[in-house]
Amino acid sequence: RRSNSSVIYPGGPPEFPPVKKLNPLNKKRILVSGGAGFVGSHLVDRLMLMGHDVIAIDNYFTGSKTNLAHWFGHPNFEMIRLAIPLQPFSTTYSSLQLPPLNRHDVVDPIMLEVDQIYHLACPASPVHYQSNPVKTLKTGFFGTYNMLGLAKRVKARFLLTSTSEVYGDPEEHPQTESYWGHVNCIGPRACYDEGKRVAEALTYSYARQDNVDVRVARIFNTFGPRMNWNDGRVVSNFIVQALKGDDITIYGDGSATRSFQYVHDLVDGLIALMDSDFTDPVNLGNPEEYTIKQFADMIVELVNEHRQRCGDSGNTSKVTYLPAVADDPQKRKPDTTRAKEVLGWSPQWAAVDGLRETVAYFHRTMQQ
Ligand code: NAD
Ligand code: UDP
Repeated sequence: RRSNSSVIYPGGPPEFPPVKKLNPLNKKRILVSGGAGFVGSHLVDRLMLMGHDVIAIDNYFTGSKTNLAHWFGHPNFEMIRLAIPLQPFSTTYSSLQLPPLNRHDVVDPIMLEVDQIYHLACPASPVHYQSNPVKTLKTGFFGTYNMLGLAKRVKARFLLTSTSEVYGDPEEHPQTESYWGHVNCIGPRACYDEGKRVAEALTYSYARQDNVDVRVARIFNTFGPRMNWNDGRVVSNFIVQALKGDDITIYGDGSATRSFQYVHDLVDGLIALMDSDFTDPVNLGNPEEYTIKQFADMIVELVNEHRQRCGDSGNTSKVTYLPAVADDPQKRKPDTTRAKEVLGWSPQWAAVDGLRETVAYFHRTMQQ
């Protein structure tokens, strides 16, 4: 497949993945904020393959251009290169403080013409979102405010990627969408949890007050290829540690639980939700629940299996216990009844199958 773009490439135009040719009436202009991140780049891939026009914006805090490099130059794809300030004389944009080329921060407003907005821009790993908690809160509030303002102006449908963290350290198990949550608003996770809670509050306020057409996905722990090896979340930490033969670091006693969803299931769910008529929040997650100790053992086993398949040698990691982190939710498992009923969606990937793919991905990238 060849690009029909008029750009002249020195070595000939690049090869692209196979993009569907859509009837122009069905083709949408879709904005993905946080498009260079882990989930965002998989979503961009899927929307591109479906034949839509996709615009990605990202400040590359945790995302990477390499996640989207395979689309650079494709006529349906655009990475915002320069945000034009809406208020050039505001304090944010003095002539000395122009936004850098090649990236857009959602904390600043942006003018675009689009039909749908998937709003993902926000760091998701506790290590990253806690490294600059004020910025995380600004992203939660102003980022969502700017994307909703854009949706209102151009009458685009808006989807917020919220999180299971809005349930905090839950007292209801599994968590249904009607549960209001149990969040410490002054703890180290508050910048993310409360940022997402205010983002949800803003989303439904715009829906009530200005009739913005909104969707809210509450996403549970998701993993897959393109997670950063230094992302800091449990899946990448444990896989990288096991591949290196380092100790597997469990925070606390390993009895906390999480339920792990493979990224392709999440992308299916996000698109199904965006394309549905359902406006209340919907949990998207895989109800398969593991203690962190069970999860560590599973990763060590999968890495050993993978090594055997590749004829690779290496030390088998042992588990080490480190002090528990503050406010760590002790259990988490989605009730996905609503997603099944309103979207006809349920996860198709067993965690173990997704983990096999992810182990292979990390092994490949570590060898490069
Ligand atoms: P990620 O950190 O890989 O991706 C986030 C992307 O947003 C990155 O590319 C980052 O550079 C960009 N970004 C961050 N702040 C920004 C800003 N101010 N302006 C512009 N871009 C910015 O995380 P992810 O796992 O891909 O998560 C994507 C979304 O899904 C996030 O909103 C996250 O809260 C939500 N979510 C993810 C999970 C999960 O397990 N992956 C769970 C619940 C919710
Ligand atoms: N965790 C761990 N070791 C690590 C990273 C995480 O034991 O190296 C634990 C963490 O304390 C939590 C669970 O794994 O109980 C999931 O953590 P993660 O940071 O992946 O996401 P969270 O669901 O807490 O946002």
